[in-house]
Amino acid sequence: MKRIALLGATGSIGRQALEIIEAHPELRLCAAASGSQAVDGLAPLTQVGGDLTELLERAEPDLVLNAVVGFAGLPATLWALERGVDLALANKESLVAAGDLALEAQRRGGGRLLPVDSEHSAAFQCLEGRAPEQVHSLVLTASGGPFRGRARDELTDVTPEEALAHPTWNMGPKITVDSATLANKGLELIEAHFLFGLRYEQIEVVVHPSSIVHALVRFRDGAALAHLGYPDMRVPISFALTYPERSATSLPPLDLQSGVTLEFHAPDLETFPLLALARRAGEQGGTHPCVFNAANEVAVAAFLAGKLPFLAIAEVVAEALAAVDGAPARDLDDLITADAEARRHAEEALKVA
Ligand code: NAD
Ligand code: MG
Repeated sequence: MKRIALLGATGSIGRQALEIIEAHPELRLCAAASGSQAVDGLAPLTQVGGDLTELLERAEPDLVLNAVVGFAGLPATLWALERGVDLALANKESLVAAGDLALEAQRRGGGRLLPVDSEHSAAFQCLEGRAPEQVHSLVLTASGGPFRGRARDELTDVTPEEALAHPTWNMGPKITVDSATLANKGLELIEAHFLFGLRYEQIEVVVHPSSIVHALVRFRDGAALAHLGYPDMRVPISFALTYPERSATSLPPLDLQSGVTLEFHAPDLETFPLLALARRAGEQGGTHPCVFNAANEVAVAAFLAGKLPFLAIAEVVAEALAAVDGAPARDLDDLITADAEARRHAEEALKVA
């Protein structure tokens, strides 16, 4: 029996996780939390908003599935890593923001960090059991989002409704906008750096419109392993929740005879500057990734509220990054300060954007 605490239970990942948990008698929900919607009766212990680590203390789970959106998921990530409680991580923002601190906490705690992000679940499976020196590079695939193939001047007036119409994945609003700007792939690049200990120059992003190949690892002998599957988050959620059993899901096996298109090309970094901004923030290190994430959260919220043009999301993030020194965080308090400062710079940039 595995006792699971599900944080972000009302979201896109949360609801799909509930489906997986229901289908497995050996998985039991011991706690559920959301940001604002009711979760009464979902689990023996529930909480709406507030400090999620209080809920985790009471619940004593075997595994935490962190499916909260944004920096708000950070305390729960650190709580699980520090205590050696297995962490199934969908909340990429916490690992991007806390990077080094999160890995130190995991080293102390000794628990598992199981990625739920589809690309990282795929990469984890391709990399599992290989020595780091065998690995040449990792390729993360991006669908390209709803605006793939458009030029910059065709994005001036796009609306939140257009940005929310994702071609292959059905997700929460924040990550859907991040997919349209490619900030999501930027966050995932930093996430992969920390999860797999790869240098940034070893991680490549390619656009792959059908979202069938989720990640590909090249090895030093010239071989490459790819992970394929239909774009459905229940697969990586199930993999993380039932690890290392790889339990069955209700999903159909990949049908190659009905036609699967595998097409790859380079991302358009001029039209989608957030990917390059994230790479630079990652390479600079320190709290630059935390600042990238914070400013992006502020800008995306403003875009969704109809207060910021689509193209200005990247400008707000660039201005926040230029305004900070990005010094490394020694602890969670430092990180919270860096996050708050970045949000202030982003709010200032919003006023003139
Ligand atoms: P969503 O917006 O659908 O759901 C977010 C959940 O977080 C909701 O349950 C909400 O109540 C909860 N929440 C928000 N703020 C909170 C707070 N302060 N305290 C407690 N709960 C809070 O988002 P989503 O699409 O499910 O994404 C969740 C996370 O998973 C994000 O980090 C996203 O990047 C990542 N992710 C999602 C997908 C996907 O397919 N949806 C794929 C890969 C990664
Ligand atoms: Mg992903």
